[in-house]
Amino acid sequence: MDHFQYQSGALCAERVAIADIARAVGTPFYVYSSATLTRHYQVFQEALAGMDHLICYAMKANSNQAVLRLMANLGAGMDVVSGGEYARAIAAGVPGERIVFSGVGKTADEMRMALAGGVRQFNVESEPELLALDAVAREMGLCAPITIRVNPDVDAKTHAKIATGKSENKFGIPIARAREAYAQAAALEGVKVVGIDVHIGSQLTELAPYEAAFTKVAELCELLRADGHDIRRLDLGGGLGIPYERSNSLPPLPLDYGAVVRRTLGHLGCEIEIEPGRLIAGNAGLLVAGVTYVKQGEGRNFLILDAAMNDLLRPAMYDAYHEIIPVVEPEAGVETRPIDIVGPVCETGDTFARQRAMPPLAAGDLVAFRTAGAYGAVMASEYNTRPMIPEVLVQGDQFAVVRARPSLEEIINRDSIPLWLA
Ligand SMILES: *Cc1c(COP(=O)(O)O)cnc(C)c1O
Repeated sequence: MDHFQYQSGALCAERVAIADIARAVGTPFYVYSSATLTRHYQVFQEALAGMDHLICYAMKANSNQAVLRLMANLGAGMDVVSGGEYARAIAAGVPGERIVFSGVGKTADEMRMALAGGVRQFNVESEPELLALDAVAREMGLCAPITIRVNPDVDAKTHAKIATGKSENKFGIPIARAREAYAQAAALEGVKVVGIDVHIGSQLTELAPYEAAFTKVAELCELLRADGHDIRRLDLGGGLGIPYERSNSLPPLPLDYGAVVRRTLGHLGCEIEIEPGRLIAGNAGLLVAGVTYVKQGEGRNFLILDAAMNDLLRPAMYDAYHEIIPVVEPEAGVETRPIDIVGPVCETGDTFARQRAMPPLAAGDLVAFRTAGAYGAVMASEYNTRPMIPEVLVQGDQFAVVRARPSLEEIINRDSIPLWLA
């Protein structure tokens, strides 16, 4: 459910007309709905109600400071995957004890930063990382709380680039080796085992892989407890999918996901952590673009937008589908025609949709990409020296620019010319 609807024929974000934002900030831009972000957080709260739990928003999905502050105000923790994200979470006002540090390649500097600033736990992904963290923590006179991320070898049945729970993926320690790794951890003075972590992938559209993974985690939990480990926290990762294409069958609801958690793990009396990213932010954002030209090609037509693959990488990177709708509501019964929707970047990969049925559009019209709030702005680049596009947050009838478009001068001045070329 989201808060981007037509009101009297004009697409709105909550009670703000998209066209008004476009006039104020220019196109292209991202716009996020506070009500939708809040709603998605609450849906997970309801799904896990009655179980001791913490929702750690996976901020790599959308790490704008305003989004983080909103989530922090709701009481969310954060799942961070870099020192940069850790610093962003702290800057947004998230207390260290609500920050979980994930990622396969944490450096000693990143470990130091999080230990100094406070951290809920590190999700350790390998034996070498375990030894590195132990060394860093001891050098600081501290003891790092850890879980070990286990790789349960289940097929998440999602896009290969975002599946993480198969044995051939780089993530976690094979579950068959987990007991040895926990024994190794227990012998180290610089780390303290607090739980188990698992994350099997992103954009999951079925519950069965979760059921399989959580069942393996439950068995492991009992084994580890029998081995004498104090397992009191289970971090279940994120990954619940969202509907990008309305004609497809709907992905499972958080409530049903919560029921799987309860059924497979509820008897263990552990605190549950989940790390949703996409489901919180995805449907809470639009990318709004202007039509630059309508071009007639040989046998097909092109809608050339002012947004490109550098602004929204998902179609080029994952062949992702985004619904693209006109900002002015088409009249009922208007005829649609297939058209290729593309950006201006000099590669054929800069294609958002092929032969998409669209109502008639002309240069100067606005279109909105739905479900662009997650893995949109955060994956953007300035390829082709196209400035990072602004981000706008709406709440009710108010909107604010939460990241401004940089000037060309700012972009150019980030480079410098060495003296020998001056
Ligand atoms: C990416 C990631 C998430 C969030 O995944 P979503 O599909 O956005 O919910 C959670 N945990 C970890 C460890 C991740 O890498």
